[in-house]
Amino acid sequence: MALERLIYASRSAELLKPEQLDAILKVSVANNSRVGVTGALMYSSREFLQCLEGSREAINQTYARILRDPRHSDLLILDYREVDRRWFSGWGMHHVPPLWSSRQVLLRYSERETFAPSKMSASMAAALLSDLAADMAASAAAGPPAILESTRSPGGMSRGYGTAPQRA
Ligand code: FAD
Repeated sequence: MALERLIYASRSAELLKPEQLDAILKVSVANNSRVGVTGALMYSSREFLQCLEGSREAINQTYARILRDPRHSDLLILDYREVDRRWFSGWGMHHVPPLWSSRQVLLRYSERETFAPSKMSASMAAALLSDLAADMAASAAAGPPAILESTRSPGGMSRGYGTAPQRA
């Protein structure tokens, strides 16, 4: 069965409170884990960037539900392709810590220093997400994420959601 990765950007209908974002993440982890979908969700400045990985069927069904959700709009697919491995294999949905949308980090992947995923090219978004995944793997193996060393603030580390998914 083909393994696929979808990356899209969208705009939230309102400025989300932490508990509203938590609600999205919790439902995402529960649903995704059931169908072998993994991924990551970034939220900043009312913009979302999400990566979904899994079987073609699961990705399409999940995205079809997400597309209808009134909590966001202006969904724009940045990239959709068959891949040979997952970036976020341990995560039903990883909440990307806010430090990844800091000016210093964003300037590595974009010509602008604000979080504007809908303006990112597919390769910029992919580079950001794959570096994030590599950093998560490195930090799991050896402590604090290297990329965030220069931008770290106390208490600003990742909140994680989800455990290793059951593969479809
Ligand atoms: P419920 O959660 O019970 O929702 C039933 C219906 O009500 C759905 O149509 C839902 O969209 C709507 N709804 C739920 N809560 C609200 C609310 N507070 N305001 C308005 N309408 C609401 N789902 C996944 O399964 N996987 C994902 O990876 C995923 N990522 C998401 C990313 C973003 C940026 C957003 C905004 C949503 C995401 N969702 C994701 C949620 C998805 O859009 C659906 O809400 C969810 O999949 C439906 O889950 P459910 O069948 O358990 O129904």
